[in-house]
Amino acid sequence: MIEIVFLGSGGSIPTEKRNHPAIAIRYEGWVLLFDAGEDVQRQYEKAQLGLNKKMAIFVTHVHADHVLGLPGLLLRFSLLGRTKPLNIYGPKELIEYVKVSQSTINLGTTFETTVHAIGPGEIFHHQDLSVRAFEVDHRGYALGYEIIWTRTTGKFLPSKAKELGVPQGPLWKALASGESVELEDGTRISSKDVTEPSPNPLKIVYSGDTRPCDELKKAASGANILICEAMYTSEHADLAEERGHSTAAAAANLAKESDVKLLVLTHYSPRYYDGEDVIGEAIPVFSNSVLACDFMRIHLSKDGSAVIMSPIDH
Ligand SMILES: [Zn+2]
Ligand SMILES: [Zn+2]
Repeated sequence: MIEIVFLGSGGSIPTEKRNHPAIAIRYEGWVLLFDAGEDVQRQYEKAQLGLNKKMAIFVTHVHADHVLGLPGLLLRFSLLGRTKPLNIYGPKELIEYVKVSQSTINLGTTFETTVHAIGPGEIFHHQDLSVRAFEVDHRGYALGYEIIWTRTTGKFLPSKAKELGVPQGPLWKALASGESVELEDGTRISSKDVTEPSPNPLKIVYSGDTRPCDELKKAASGANILICEAMYTSEHADLAEERGHSTAAAAANLAKESDVKLLVLTHYSPRYYDGEDVIGEAIPVFSNSVLACDFMRIHLSKDGSAVIMSPIDH
């Protein structure tokens, strides 16, 4: 299972209930953190994501609301004695930002920190999970991220297993999880013989800050979950265009056209208070839309089902 934890769902100015942008994805002992808005360290702690986890940080762009929390997070990890190395990926300006933070505010870390200047393409891989960056249309260089979860084994077919003389039990389990087995008479049975073809990979897409654009549309095509910024409602479509953002309606349209299964709207302006206007605009266009809030979690299972847990559910 993959767990998505929203650590910050606000845009530009944090409010009492909504922190600056930061989204954590947990998978197989890893924490992948997307953006690190101001005070992400306390959100990270409240969400109990763990100090010494295998971790990578992916920054969409170097606007302040997405990176102000990075030095604080590194400081916290150091004061608490983190030892595992930490890789940070993002636009090239990030290297200078971290370097200056380290040299001017005495931010030495107890662990190895490496900042990688990246462009579009695959940048991270662990087992069957990979992260790909794509360029979006904001102000200055900005990236979105696609998290791809490959599924190597299709649905197990018991009738086929019986037909081939495989006895029910541990051998079925092994075949269902993609292994080959050997029967007592020496016959080798491959997982492919008793499973459906591998289904398409699962996909989570994070837009970062962007106007609706072709690259985002391409990445979002068929996505299980699209986490898209919705800084404005259509009333302020002119501001969205001018400042390189998306409206809720535009995000919903993009989700509809890209055949997305679930749209999560985030990074909305504090002018919308509780975000009712934002989600109210999206749902008539794309009914499977939800509004992110801080500490909301989404569980994505390998069969593609997604369960949304509000902060009070856990
Ligand atoms: Zn922003
Ligand atoms: Zn921005």
